[in-house]
Amino acid sequence: MNLQRSYLADFVSLLFPELCAACRESLVANEHLLCTDCRFNLPYTNFHLQADNIVARQFWGKINIEAAFALFYFNKGGKIQNMLHQLKYNGQQQIGNLLGNIAGGQLAKNEIFNTVDYIIPVPLHKKRFRERGYNQSTRFAEGLADKLNAAVEEDNLVRVKSTETQTHKSRFARFENMQEVFVIINPEKLKGKHVLLVDDVITTGSTLEACGEQLLKVEGLKLSIATIAYAE
Ligand SMILES: [Zn+2]
Repeated sequence: MNLQRSYLADFVSLLFPELCAACRESLVANEHLLCTDCRFNLPYTNFHLQADNIVARQFWGKINIEAAFALFYFNKGGKIQNMLHQLKYNGQQQIGNLLGNIAGGQLAKNEIFNTVDYIIPVPLHKKRFRERGYNQSTRFAEGLADKLNAAVEEDNLVRVKSTETQTHKSRFARFENMQEVFVIINPEKLKGKHVLLVDDVITTGSTLEACGEQLLKVEGLKLSIATIAYAE
């Protein structure tokens, strides 16, 4: 940056200081997206050090996973919610990449997660994707992929409306039938691979479970799960 540009940047940041995505305090020089205090003191779970963590337990007896992880504990009205809001509703896509990098740095030291081949984001609803223009989980996946030496596989797992005939179904079954389902477009590519399925927040785990069920139909596929936050 030349001197003139730098003066201009300083002047602009005086008027409109960049705010920390988590605590919303003004950032100082050399801070980007997150302030130093938040970077070190956000509610990290350290689940990469605990195989039987509470996210992994969500899937016990439901789907067969290798490992599960969430970067943060979600605190409503707090810093993690601020960050996710910036990521999802304020166009701050780089936050997803940054959090993916931070999570990837932790997971790269874990002997299960460091064998991941492909990272697959949970697909957004079509309508949401059109409104937002990006999938926040894909940004997280990209950040993870950098650190895990893996590839992001975005368009292989998709949401579709169920097309099964609804004529002779019970009312409940009809309702079920109207739900979106997940489909794998190219299962061949995922054969025998270790897939890391990622989403922004895990609450009940039902979406991740539905995606996981489909992925596990692929021959020899191993599945792990990672999210930005775990909400109780
Ligand atoms: Zn902060």
